[in-house]
Amino acid sequence: MVLADLGRKITSALRSLSNATIIDEDVLNSMLKEICAALLEADVNILLVKRLRENVKAVIDFDEMAAGLNKRRMIQTAVFKELVKLIDPGVKAWSPVKGKPNVIMFVGLQGSGKTTTCTKLAYHYQKKAWKTCLICADTFRAGAFDQLKQNATKARIPFYGSYTEMDPVVIAAEGVEKFKKENFEIIIVDTSGRHKQEESLFEEMLQVSNAVNPDNVIYVMDATIGQACEAQARAFKEKVDVASVIITKLDGHAKGGGALSAVAATKSPIIFIGTGEHIDDFEQFKTKPFISKLLGMGDIEGLIDKVNELNLDDNEELINKLKHGEFTLRDMYEQFQNIMKMGPFSQIMSLIPGFGSDFLSKGNEQESMARLKRLMTIMDSMNDEELDSKEGAKMFMRNQGRIQRVARGSGVSVREVQELLSQYQKFAAMVKKMGGIKGLFKGGDMMKNVNQSQMMKLNQQMAKMMDPRILHQMGGIGGLQNMMKQFQQGAGGGLGGMMGGMGGK
Ligand code: GDP
Ligand code: MG
Repeated sequence: MVLADLGRKITSALRSLSNATIIDEDVLNSMLKEICAALLEADVNILLVKRLRENVKAVIDFDEMAAGLNKRRMIQTAVFKELVKLIDPGVKAWSPVKGKPNVIMFVGLQGSGKTTTCTKLAYHYQKKAWKTCLICADTFRAGAFDQLKQNATKARIPFYGSYTEMDPVVIAAEGVEKFKKENFEIIIVDTSGRHKQEESLFEEMLQVSNAVNPDNVIYVMDATIGQACEAQARAFKEKVDVASVIITKLDGHAKGGGALSAVAATKSPIIFIGTGEHIDDFEQFKTKPFISKLLGMGDIEGLIDKVNELNLDDNEELINKLKHGEFTLRDMYEQFQNIMKMGPFSQIMSLIPGFGSDFLSKGNEQESMARLKRLMTIMDSMNDEELDSKEGAKMFMRNQGRIQRVARGSGVSVREVQELLSQYQKFAAMVKKMGGIKGLFKGGDMMKNVNQSQMMKLNQQMAKMMDPRILHQMGGIGGLQNMMKQFQQGAGGGLGGMMGGMGGK
């Protein structure tokens, strides 16, 4: 069973609590049975599953418990906590120190994804302005150096390796020395693997480790090998001082449960997961948001972070205007800019409860971004008067010459400018309606202040305003309503609210 299915099954088991009129031992047992079956099917270790079951049961004592206590909530909280415990070893993740060399050594079996992941990690740090480099200490696999060289060159990351030197220990030591002298901050050493955990591999691993004295040893684990992860992780941990784990291939059809729960054996936190072959198919891993997302509750925390990054609260002027139902072409332009700043569409969408990360495929996402860019190009050819008018669209309708001028200026057809204006009119109409809903824009608690019928109205407005293609992908109006409802719960109370409250490290 793939991870998404696991999430769905657990969520549905948890829902059974909400549907039950009385929550007694039978209800709890049958819910736990469903959850445990799903975990086992996803390859989670049977002992861990048993522990989860016992721990959840221990929280609730039906005989002793006073009536009126919120059992439902207590059980859901206990399940959530236990799921977190399955993955979280309770150890703080290592983090590099600025301004000094941080040597990171990769270990793992052949084919687990070490070389790919080395580049992903290097790229991650380089983007954050760390002085980063790669060393290929794999002389076992033919073409290993070429593979790393190719990856590193593509990502413009300095690298070190050799076609002639056969001793990985020598290469590793030389590379680290060279890059330390050059004041590199992140020095990543890729090592060779074997098909299984053999003595010769561990011997080599130890020698390299002794030679470079790593600040962090990252064990790379392939999610697709299921239950076998556990023994493998244990073997590596025994031989070398594994400090962090990266799980690869958590995309596609990996069961994942085996890998995720094997982390308990390493007593080391998962720091990243690999979700594809490309350099940016790589996500920082945080347990609680991961479980929330798995259960379809969305990563409320992540979403709030992103929104806060935008400093929308500082934009008092816009909020004031919106309150009065005003929305100019320039406001729309700035909103598009914000969306672009927030990064890939699908990333944002996947943070919203009820959306999997597969909501928008990459192709669609690029398409949406390109469309947005094109619309902004058109608006770039408008003048201040047009952008700031309270009735921007009317200005254009009254004077078709303006449309022609903008079309010429931005190199698009008149028709496209008209389409943009009609899109804008829909937005503006929606803002007018929303401005009428009292308190909608009060503070960050937008959704808390809205009641059921206002929500309905808002949904309908949103549906009208949205690009029909995107609406379709969201599952039509029903899907949209569902999302808004979940979002409301997420911000207010219910399951999502509970988890939101528990979030944070
Ligand atoms: P190494 O032998 O441990 O260095 O493994 P490689 O980095 O050479 O990777 C082995 C294969 O796994 C390659 O085909 C990679 O493209 C693929 N791979 C690595 N990470 C991921 C991932 O997160 N998802 C998927 N789908 N493939 C991956
Ligand atoms: Mg390799």
